[in-house]
Amino acid sequence: MSEQHRIQVHPIPAFKDNYIWALRSGSRVAIVDPGDARPVLDYLAREALELVAILATHHHADHVGGVADLKRGRDIPVYGPKNEPISTLTRPVASGDRVAIPEFGVAFEVLDIPGHTRAHIAYYGSKMVFCGDTLFACGCGRVFEGTPPQLHASLAKLAALPEDTLVYCGHEYTLANIRFARAVEPGNVALAGRERTDTTTREKNHPTLPTTIGLEKATNPFLRCAQPEVAQAAARRRGTDVTDPVEVFTAIREWKNTF
Ligand code: ZN
Ligand code: FE
Repeated sequence: MSEQHRIQVHPIPAFKDNYIWALRSGSRVAIVDPGDARPVLDYLAREALELVAILATHHHADHVGGVADLKRGRDIPVYGPKNEPISTLTRPVASGDRVAIPEFGVAFEVLDIPGHTRAHIAYYGSKMVFCGDTLFACGCGRVFEGTPPQLHASLAKLAALPEDTLVYCGHEYTLANIRFARAVEPGNVALAGRERTDTTTREKNHPTLPTTIGLEKATNPFLRCAQPEVAQAAARRRGTDVTDPVEVFTAIREWKNTF
């Protein structure tokens, strides 16, 4: 068995609905998007783990607010987007760069996925993608610093990954996203099934993540803008014909903002 198959990924809940992701191999751990140091420090102590790297997807405080405290007294690399204002980064990266975690025998490819923020990145490797606030389970991030066409292109980039890629997002927004998705595509049978499954999961207070690229392509309206039912929903919303997938995306992203 190769080294990379021994990586385990655990969620560390933070704030109201954030997930900080812990990548573990033996007693070592890398942390993705530590918005808060406290739950991570508790986790390290409880599990007797050594922190070896921090990876950030974008500059929002709920993803990087804990970096300074985690770094204190530790000589560890902090990876994050080159073109965003994150003062705690030691290894700024962008598309085409690779992030190796030698302790784990794994390397992630960096993908530029702007739209939610100006230079948001994802980390892709070992059949996993950590995509912060760009792609959510059955939804996507808000457009804060980029444009809807940019976010649409970034989601298309993620959708092009292999269908069995595990998707680790920054928040537990799934049930609210599914309610919106059902309004867009009431006839989507896979989506109805997902609503039942994920509702049961949340009733047990379990995370609905990770999801997969395949499930997102089947149920996430923001990845389905070329589907006639999604285009029709966008047209109803706009009160005019909408067929271009980027326009469809723009219309349903706006709709979701006030749903
Ligand atoms: Zn964010
Ligand atoms: Fe966030």
